Amino acid sequence: MPAAPSTETVIVRRNGNGEFRRLKCDICVVGAGIAGISAALQAAKLGRKVILVDSQPALGGQAVNSIIATFCGLFSNGTHGYQFTYGVADDLLAYLESVEQAVHYRHGPRTTVVYYDEVTLGRWVEQSVLAADISPVLGAMLLDTKVESGRIVSADFMTRYGGVTIEADGYVEASGDAALLWQAGFACREPANHRVYGTQMVVLENIDEERQPTREAISERMKERGDAYGLLRREGLGFTIPGRGIAAMNMTHVETPLDPVEASAKALEGKDQASRAVDFLKAEFPEGFGKARVRSFGLPGIRQTRWIVGRHHLTVDEIKSQTKFDDAIGRTAWPIELHDHGDGHHWIVFDEDHEHYIPLGSLVPAECHNVVAAGRCIDADSAALSSVRVMGPCIAMGMAAAHALDLAGSGSVHQIDMEKMRGRVADNVEKKHYRWDQKEMASVTTAH
Ligand SMILES: Cc1cc2nc3c(=O)[nH]c(=O)nc-3n(C[C@H](O)[C@H](O)[C@H](O)COP(=O)(O)OP(=O)(O)OC[C@H]3O[C@@H](n4cnc5c(N)ncnc54)[C@H](O)[C@@H]3O)c2cc1C
Repeated sequence: MPAAPSTETVIVRRNGNGEFRRLKCDICVVGAGIAGISAALQAAKLGRKVILVDSQPALGGQAVNSIIATFCGLFSNGTHGYQFTYGVADDLLAYLESVEQAVHYRHGPRTTVVYYDEVTLGRWVEQSVLAADISPVLGAMLLDTKVESGRIVSADFMTRYGGVTIEADGYVEASGDAALLWQAGFACREPANHRVYGTQMVVLENIDEERQPTREAISERMKERGDAYGLLRREGLGFTIPGRGIAAMNMTHVETPLDPVEASAKALEGKDQASRAVDFLKAEFPEGFGKARVRSFGLPGIRQTRWIVGRHHLTVDEIKSQTKFDDAIGRTAWPIELHDHGDGHHWIVFDEDHEHYIPLGSLVPAECHNVVAAGRCIDADSAALSSVRVMGPCIAMGMAAAHALDLAGSGSVHQIDMEKMRGRVADNVEKKHYRWDQKEMASVTTAH
């Protein structure tokens, strides 16, 4: 016979001022998006004690929670190009490949793009973090920092269950918004006279995969008929995830201001825009989308808000001229993809043998000794950033941030042994591994 249900309670009362719990580690990573995850996993591989903090109650940042749905910038141009980023990226691809229908490599016409299932990606992140003995602190919003002699010595976070103070030798700024460096009072950048739009991603189910319109057809119709549906953006895409009867829709342009009240209002407006875009697809392309339903909305997709002032400000000219920096830590060939006007975006593509580089100087804040940035808030002009912030190079940046802080130890990231650093990131700068047999694949391209 089961025991009687327990009914005893205790009376509790909040004590004093609510002391912050104190935690210590070698490297604290602020932001658990793809860049922060990569940094945390690499730092753990190097034997460092790592704490990974995020304001969301879940890991994975935009890659998981905004349902970005494809990894771009991971392969060189051409239909079956070589891989640019290795290490953590290899671990990630191996996991996705081990799960049925979790990954699809779309080859060509211009490059290879990796479609992924965001639920599987989320599980990879969670399992990898646990296996690497990284301590996650979730639902933790950065509140304050203590700065001494150009170093962040501790950072305070508030969670729904109380405050946490984290002391670390080094910090990775992977918040996407330069939240850590901003809070600590270091110089940051914002766009002077332009805005960069975000996008509300949507997953549609119940689509007809065989009767999907081309991207060009969708964009043409958006230009002609967008007014009738109140659409702001006049180009965009709904790309099918093959074999799963779903499509990810990227058809809105939503402002992403830094003011808390405006930001909340715009997030809701983004969902309205997305709903109107769904109405447009259903009515204008009934064969492919007539029975479509929204399965999920991602969290607001934010491209660019505030970013760091680094030792080096990467420019679009350096990208176009393929400047190979002495301190290069990663590369890509993704186009300039600048969403700086409501109805469209600049799209500048590169040749098949093109690769452009990201210098460590763009990850290292000019004024601070123990922080390295990674991901969409490194130092670059808006056009340059629009290319290097895609997720392939974000993984390389995360790995590089971990190596730089590991080499710096309790010293300065401005004085690390650059020979050692170059050796550690050599694969992500030099290696050209083809995942697909070139002869076998020479005649294979994907139609759309
Ligand atoms: C709509 C859209 C579509 C895109 N499409 C593609 C694509 O198809 N392929 C591709 O490769 N790239 C794409 N990109 C670009 C790419 O997704 C992002 O640049 C990349 O995911 C950024 O990763 P991140 O780790 O730098 O930042 P994020 O993923 O933004 O992670 C930052 C994390 O920091 C946390 N954080 C922020 N502030 C605080 C704080 N104060 N305290 C604690 N935590 C904080 C956030 O909660 C978040 O989890 C797209 C971007 C958008 C917006």
